[in-house]
Amino acid sequence: MRHAVFVKPGLVEWREVPDPTLQGDLEALVRPIVVGRCDLDVAFVRGLMPMAGGSTLGHEIIGQVVSIGDKVRRTRPGQMVFVPAQISCGVCGNCRRGLTGRCTAVPFAASYGMGRGGDYGGGLADIVRVPFADAMLTPVPAHADPAKLIGLADMATDAWRAIGPHLSRQPDARVAVLGGDAQVIGIYSAGLAVALGAPVVKYIDRDPRRTAVAASYGAEIAADYEAAIGAYDVVVVANAAAKALMKAFDLVAPGGNVISVTPSLADQPTFDTRVLYHRGVNWAIGRPDCRHGHDGALSAWSNCGFCPDRVPTLEVSWDEAPEAWSSGELYVAAVRSSETL
Ligand SMILES: [Zn+2]
Ligand SMILES: [Zn+2]
Repeated sequence: MRHAVFVKPGLVEWREVPDPTLQGDLEALVRPIVVGRCDLDVAFVRGLMPMAGGSTLGHEIIGQVVSIGDKVRRTRPGQMVFVPAQISCGVCGNCRRGLTGRCTAVPFAASYGMGRGGDYGGGLADIVRVPFADAMLTPVPAHADPAKLIGLADMATDAWRAIGPHLSRQPDARVAVLGGDAQVIGIYSAGLAVALGAPVVKYIDRDPRRTAVAASYGAEIAADYEAAIGAYDVVVVANAAAKALMKAFDLVAPGGNVISVTPSLADQPTFDTRVLYHRGVNWAIGRPDCRHGHDGALSAWSNCGFCPDRVPTLEVSWDEAPEAWSSGELYVAAVRSSETL
């Protein structure tokens, strides 16, 4: 089969490799049908996040189940499913607590297409091996167009962890999003906050393309950091500049939450922890729990009208995926046509 690999910054190529096979009773093989380009892929492809040459790419996956192991019960061949970016067993202590990004049954951070531990390949491939089919796979709702829902496969799960749990604890929370490098995740965070009923949702970013989409989701726009004032209960940092994180600490209300969905990349922040201590700031930074996030993101789509496809998406054929992964578009999705099935 073919899979796509990162060669060097700006260059992704198809490579021929042996087909994966079922290696256990709980596994499934899935044929990716739509694969989206995560904001993290943009950082990999541009060389902003380290990735070894030859690493596989693609971790936002909707696919069709091809075959299953003997002990798979809920997953059926032919089913269209979301495949989470991270590998999770569903039964270890962390998975049972919803911490599916820290499953203890696999190497730490084992994922598709990120050059991380374990050997699970990437989503830009003809076949993907899913080691815990029933625990990992979520059916795509019947009659839904997979190309329109691909944003729910990964980036909306990331945005959901930044927004959903906080709004369920505090429905009247004021939300601010510092948009930027994690561009779609930041826009989705604003869109989810609006969909989930936050009374104030401010999206702060200078980029006119991103602010236009955030506005279409119903967020109020502030074009620059200096203009953004006020105390917010939830501040999402989707901008990788150090000053964005420092601004988040200025914007957050006493006892409020700052959630970084990206690390600082170009430079690192300096801040006075005495100020943060005095005001009481809950700062969360880290990878999301992808499988756990599918439930929240799907619920926001089905119950609250959150539409991931409002972000303009360059849809390309499967063959064009490697070149498209370097594109400057906000979002890219590779779609396998039915003739190639
Ligand atoms: Zn991702
Ligand atoms: Zn686990």
